[in-house]
Amino acid sequence: MPKFSDRVEAISISGIREVFEAAGEDAINLGLGQPDFPTPSHAKDAAVAAIREGSTDAYTSNKGTLALREAIAAKHERDQGVTVDPGDLIATSGGSEALHLALEAHVDVGEEVVIPDPGFVSYDALTKLAGGEPVPVPLREDLTLDPATVEAAITDDTAAFVVNSPANPTGTVASEDDVREFARIAREHDVLCLSDEVYEHFVFEGAHHSPLEYERENVVVVNACSKAYSMTGWRLGWVTGATDRIERMLRVHQYAQACASAPAQFAAEAALSGPQDVVGEMRDSFERRRDVVLEGLADAGLDCPTPQGAFYAMPEVPDGFVDECIDRGVVVVPGGAFGEHGEGYARISYATDEDVLREALGIMADAAAAVR
Ligand code: PLP
Repeated sequence: MPKFSDRVEAISISGIREVFEAAGEDAINLGLGQPDFPTPSHAKDAAVAAIREGSTDAYTSNKGTLALREAIAAKHERDQGVTVDPGDLIATSGGSEALHLALEAHVDVGEEVVIPDPGFVSYDALTKLAGGEPVPVPLREDLTLDPATVEAAITDDTAAFVVNSPANPTGTVASEDDVREFARIAREHDVLCLSDEVYEHFVFEGAHHSPLEYERENVVVVNACSKAYSMTGWRLGWVTGATDRIERMLRVHQYAQACASAPAQFAAEAALSGPQDVVGEMRDSFERRRDVVLEGLADAGLDCPTPQGAFYAMPEVPDGFVDECIDRGVVVVPGGAFGEHGEGYARISYATDEDVLREALGIMADAAAAVR
C-alpha cells in the first residue's frame, strides 16, 4: 500500500464536489462559484495575439511579466489608492496558488491560522497542508467576521488570520471600521493578516476596503482575475505584500510553478488595463439577481442575512433541505461544507440566469415546505 504524508491525509476533496456528483445531469446548479459571463473579448484577443507573436513560448520572469505587474500595481492605485511596487507582486495560478504561497511561506508546523467559519474551503485545507492548525472562529449573527472574535482567538502560536470580504460563502462585506480593526490587530499582535479580495468588485452596498489601506508590513493581499473578469479557467491571480514576504513566497512559487501561464498573463494585463465597464455590468446583474433571491427566500419562509456582495446568499435552512433540493433537481451546497458553524445553512450561488433562478427558487420553496 502506498504511504502518504500525514499532511495530505489530513485533508479531503471538497464537500462541494460531492454535492455536484450527487445531482443529476439536468439539475439546476446553484453550487458553482463562478460568474456566468464570457471573458471580455479584449482579454481573449490579447492572449491570442501574444500566442501568435510567439511571446508565450518561453517562461516569463518568476514573478510574471513586468507589464502585467505594472497593470496590477495600477489597479491597486486606482481602486484603493494604495501604491504597490511592481517588484512586490507575484502573478500566480489563480487566487488559489496565491493563498497556498502565503500559507506555505508564513506558517510553521503546529502554528495556528485563525479562519472564518463558515469560510472558503481552501483556508482550512491549505493551512493543514502547510503543517499548521486551523482555528475556525464563528461569525456574527449577520454572518460578518467580528474583529473582536479574531483578536480573542490570537495566541502566541498564531501565524496568521484570514479575512475575506466580500465573503464566500456568505456574501457579506466587512465594514470599513472592521477592516481598520483587522489592520490594527495585525500590527499590534505582529501577526499576518491574509486578505482574500477576489470578490472586491462585486459590492452592492457600501464599498470594498482592504486592510492594505491601513497597514503595510503585516498584510498580504490575494486577488485574481478569476471572478472580476470571469476568467476562472485562465488561472491567473496575484499576491502582494512587503518585500521580504514576497521574497519568501517567491521561493515556493519558483519551485512549484516557475511562473504563471504566459497566455493568461497577457489576457490578464489586457483585462486589468482595458475598459472596466464589463465589471460594472456583472456587478449590476448580480445585484438584481441578489434581490430576486432574497425575495424568493422570503417567500419560501427562509431567513437570510442580506448579502452585500459576491454572488452568494446563505439562508438558514431546515434539516434535510439540501437533500430535498437535490432530489428535486436543484443543487445548493450544505453550509457544513464551509465549517462546523455553517451547519444549518445552505450556500446559494446566484451567478445564473434570472429565469432559471426564479424556477429554482420555486423548487426550493417546495423543498422547504416538504421538510418542515
Ligand atoms: N478565494 C475565494 C474566497 C474564492 O471563493 C475562490 C474561488 O472560488 C478563490 C479564492 C480561488 O480563486 P481562483 O479561481 O482564482 O483560484
